[in-house]
Amino acid sequence: MDATPELKLYNTLTREKSVFSPIDPNNVRMYVCGPTVYDFAHIGNARPAIVFDMLFRLLRHVYGEDHVTYARNITDVDDKINARALRDHPGLPLNEAIRAVTEKTEMQYHADVAELGCLEPSFEPRATDNIVEMTEIIEKLIGNGHAYVASGEVLFDTKSMADYGQLSKRPLDEQQAGARIAVDAHKKNPGDFVLWKLSSHNEPGWESPWGRGRPGWHIECSAMSKRYLGDVFDIHGGGLDLIFPHHENEIAQSRCAHGTEVMANVWMHNGFLQVEGRKMSKSEGNFVTIHELLHTDIFGGRSWPGQVLRLAMLMTHYREPIDFTWNKLVEASNTLSKWRRAAELLSTPTEAPVDVQVLKALANDLSTQQAVQRLSTIASSAFASFHERGTISEQKIEEEQQTLVATLVASAKLLGFSLLEKTEIDEAVAAEIDARVKARLELLNAGNFAEADKIRDTLAAEGIQLKDGKDAETGERVTTWEVER
Ligand code: AMP
Ligand code: ZN
Repeated sequence: MDATPELKLYNTLTREKSVFSPIDPNNVRMYVCGPTVYDFAHIGNARPAIVFDMLFRLLRHVYGEDHVTYARNITDVDDKINARALRDHPGLPLNEAIRAVTEKTEMQYHADVAELGCLEPSFEPRATDNIVEMTEIIEKLIGNGHAYVASGEVLFDTKSMADYGQLSKRPLDEQQAGARIAVDAHKKNPGDFVLWKLSSHNEPGWESPWGRGRPGWHIECSAMSKRYLGDVFDIHGGGLDLIFPHHENEIAQSRCAHGTEVMANVWMHNGFLQVEGRKMSKSEGNFVTIHELLHTDIFGGRSWPGQVLRLAMLMTHYREPIDFTWNKLVEASNTLSKWRRAAELLSTPTEAPVDVQVLKALANDLSTQQAVQRLSTIASSAFASFHERGTISEQKIEEEQQTLVATLVASAKLLGFSLLEKTEIDEAVAAEIDARVKARLELLNAGNFAEADKIRDTLAAEGIQLKDGKDAETGERVTTWEVER
C-alpha cells in the first residue's frame, strides 16, 4: 500500500461520502456498465469511460496494479442492434448482419477510448458469451419465487422483494401511484421487468427452458458481474441515468438470486455531459461522436486530440454536470500545452513520487478538478524557478526545478497523461507536412498572407500546430511544427 490519504467515495446507495474499505485489498473489484454496440459512441458516453478509468488508475496506485479487477461489459444483444442490422445489412442473414454491426462498433469503441487514454479493463465480457450464466440466474429466481413466466416472458416480481427500490429511493407504491409505467395485463405489478423474452424468427435467440428467446438488458450485468467479480463486489459504476431502472433491477436480480444483503458495496454515478443545459444523447440529436471530435473538424472547425477531451472532462468533478463548449476544449488544450512545456524543462528522465496534494484531491471522492489545478500550480512553479535562475544558488534552483517537473510528470501520469512521449508520425506524412509548411513560408515571404493563413488553419484542423520564429544567425523566418496531442 502507498502512503495515500484515506480514500473516500460518494455512495449513491447511502447518499453519503464514506471511507472506502475493500472486501479484499488484494483483489479490489469494480464493474462498470459498458456500451451497447449499435453505433458510434458520443462524447457523453466518453464520460463514464474516462471517470472510471481514473478510478481504476487510482485504485491500482493505492492497492497495487495486480490487485484491482475492473470489468466493463459490451452489450451486444439489444433491439436497437437488431434494428440497425436490418437497416444496414438487409442482404445478410440476421446473425451475420448483427455480427457485422457489433464487431465494427466494438472496434470503433476500443479505438475511441484508447485515444482518450483509458486503460483496458481487466475483463470485457460480451453479453452473448454469457447467455448460459443469465439463464442460470433466471432459473434460480423462478425457483425461489422472485420471478414468473407470463405471455412468453419471464418477469421479475418486484413485490417479492421487500426492499426493492433502495438505490433510487423509489418505493414500489410510489411507482404505482405515479402510474408512469404502462400496466401490462400479464404483469403482476406494473414495475415488474423482463428477464427473458421469446424471439420471433427475425430476432436473435437462444434456446432456454422457456423457449427460444433473448435476455432482458438488466440480467446481462447481473450475470457478467457475478461471473467475473463474484456475488458481492466493491464498486459498481455508470452514468446517472442508469440508477433507475437499470441498476435498481440489477440489484434486485443479484441479491434475490444469491441471497445477499448487497450486490456491490459502493455505487458510483457520473453526471451528464450537457449541451446548452440538456443531456447529450442520441435521442435528443445533440450529440458529437468521439470519432468526429477527434478526427474531423465538425466541432469548431478543427479536430481535438483525445488527451484534450480527457482533460476537459477531468476539469469538472465527476458528479457535476459538464456543459460542453468550445471554450472548455480550448482551456484544456492550453492547460495541457503548459504542462508539456514545463515537462520539456526536464533535463534527464527522473523518477519522482506523485504529488501529495494531487493524491489528496483524488482520494477525496475523485476530485480531479483540484488535482488538475494543482498540476498547473506545479507547472507554474517550475517556470518561476526557471526565471529565478542565476539570482540565487543556480544549482539549488536547478535541482528544485527538476524535482518539480519530475513530480508534474509522475502526477500527470496518474491522471492518464503522458507529458513526455512524442507522438510518432509516419515519414511520408511528415514529408508532406514539411512541404505544406514550406509552401506557407513562401507565401508569407511573398506577402500573400490570406493564402498562408489558409494553410496554417487547415494544418491546425488536422492537429498540426505551427511555431514561427527567426533563425538566430540569419534572422530569416523559420517555422517548425508539432502534432498536438
Ligand atoms: P448507453 O450506451 O446510452 O447505455 O450509455 C453508456 C454509458 O454512457 C452509460 O453509463 C450512460 O450512463 C453514459 N452516458 C450516456 N449519455 C451520457 C451523457 N450525456 N453524459 C454522461 N454520461 C452519459
Ligand atoms: Zn449494467
